[in-house]
Amino acid sequence: MLSLYQALISQHPRQLSPMRCAEQTIAQLHRYFEDVVLENNLAALVIESLPVKAERPQRALEHIMSIGRSARHAFFFAAPDDDLRNLPLRRAKEGVRQLVLLDRTAQERWEEHFVIIADARFSAILVSLRDKDAEGSDSASGSEVVWTFEPDIVYSALEYLMARVTAERLPQTEEFAGAVRTCMPKATSLQLTVSVTTKLARLLQEQAAREVAVNRIASAIRSSLELPSILQTTVNEVGNALGAQHCALRVDGELEQPPTNNYYFRDGKPDESAVDEVVNDLNAYHTRLSRKHKSFVQDGRDQANAEGQDETRPVAVVPLVYQLRFMGALMVRSDDSKRIWQESELLLLRTVADQVAVAVNHARLYEKQQQLALTDSLTGCVNRRSFEMQLERDLRLATRMRQPVSLIMLDIDHFKRVNDTHGHDAGDAALRFLADVLRDELRGVDTAARYGGEEFAVILPQANLEGALIVAERLRARLESTDIPGIGRITASFGIATFPLHANSRNQLVSAADRALYEAKREGRNRVRTPDTEPREVSDEMFDVVRETPMNEAETNAAAPVV
Ligand code: GH3
Ligand code: MG
Ligand code: MG
Repeated sequence: MLSLYQALISQHPRQLSPMRCAEQTIAQLHRYFEDVVLENNLAALVIESLPVKAERPQRALEHIMSIGRSARHAFFFAAPDDDLRNLPLRRAKEGVRQLVLLDRTAQERWEEHFVIIADARFSAILVSLRDKDAEGSDSASGSEVVWTFEPDIVYSALEYLMARVTAERLPQTEEFAGAVRTCMPKATSLQLTVSVTTKLARLLQEQAAREVAVNRIASAIRSSLELPSILQTTVNEVGNALGAQHCALRVDGELEQPPTNNYYFRDGKPDESAVDEVVNDLNAYHTRLSRKHKSFVQDGRDQANAEGQDETRPVAVVPLVYQLRFMGALMVRSDDSKRIWQESELLLLRTVADQVAVAVNHARLYEKQQQLALTDSLTGCVNRRSFEMQLERDLRLATRMRQPVSLIMLDIDHFKRVNDTHGHDAGDAALRFLADVLRDELRGVDTAARYGGEEFAVILPQANLEGALIVAERLRARLESTDIPGIGRITASFGIATFPLHANSRNQLVSAADRALYEAKREGRNRVRTPDTEPREVSDEMFDVVRETPMNEAETNAAAPVV
């Protein structure tokens, strides 16, 4: 049977690029992964296979026990003579987490070493394979190691181990399967991932005895979830840490969106042509990397050879890849013609690129979810919840600016007949048509919302009653005169209310517009009505908003898409 390492490499050849690391470094990396569980008290599933040893120092055993206590489930593969077998596992009380030992498969030539952390919030795997035959002959060469935070790969590692434990009919199979089922990785927390990366960067720093400020990237990522600032910090810190002349990052846009470029220039503010030159260079490497998703590294040469040959300029470019999808490139360039890129520096670039890829995807996913939660899927207008938040924000702003806000409520006339005559799908098409008309007629600052069923609400910031009347009348006339294919014409009734003229709170404003809409219906439909109030002057006190149903700060400040 393949080892876990081999299985993962063959299953995810493009996502995992093995690094050669000294055994000592691997042991340290292993610790850093375990620390995520210990320091965050992460109730995760932890599965480990340690280097085979009969004797383990007391401290190492205590450390392993502490993982057993922190983790939700901990499984350790152990050989029959491993000291782990002497741990007082039985003494753990009912309900207290403890670790479970699994029999280690006899591995003749290879010895695998791994740690897997799986939890709904975070997933990580570090796995390496040591060639036992090579032992002693060249101990400095170390082993191949890969790690990743991608839930997909952790998932396939769990699947593989499940298959192995089942095939070997281990007595703990059922317990193992149960634990795996409850801890399937779903996402990976940027924060936790970054905390490992920070330590990793620290380790590399020590190893290479180089000033690497990459942990500052990590803390920047941690302290700011704003993508643009993460991307800029990344190039600044990487450029700085590697003493590069330039560092540039390209992140491809989604669908038709243009890519974003961030760059760092060591020698201060660049002029336009210098930026163009770096961006063009980055784009050329981007095209090159997009084919194979492999890093491109060009070391410097001797002065004599390099003279006059600009193409030998030292450069290292790593791809940004997320779940097999190529999504950009991170490049560093040096003006030192003898610059040799160290393995640890490349490892650092790759780690940062992985983090950026994960961060970009998280940010996009988050944005999409936000969008979905606030949008009506049929019409693409904002939904009622989002409408209420937007109206609250617009009223606050209007109060501060001493400006009016108008609200139009509109309801399609006899819509039931449209459904009854042409079918529900045609009814849906009519709703989409109306939403398109709203989008077409309104200004960027206005918000069109589907208030419910065939009723819509339009917020018009800075519009007084006269302005709102013009807009409503224009909408009414356009509907009345436009044929919807397969349906014919629809009309709608409109009610308007203006802050602060008719109301000085969100709920009052909605009620006033709704009452006016009811009047429009009552008077025969296909018309615009305003509240039946005595004309009065707008005075300064009228701007003081009374909020009878305050919304919480986070809600009202959440970004709402504006139609
Ligand atoms: P009125 O002029 O008084 O507003 O009459 P109406 O028929 O428009 O009003 P009524 O409230 O009686 O009916 C509203 C209809 O809107 C009934 C409901 O099936 C339909 N409707 C609500 N939401 C949707 C939707 O998402 N799609 C479709 N096709 N119809 C919807
Ligand atoms: Mg209606
Ligand atoms: Mg209605």
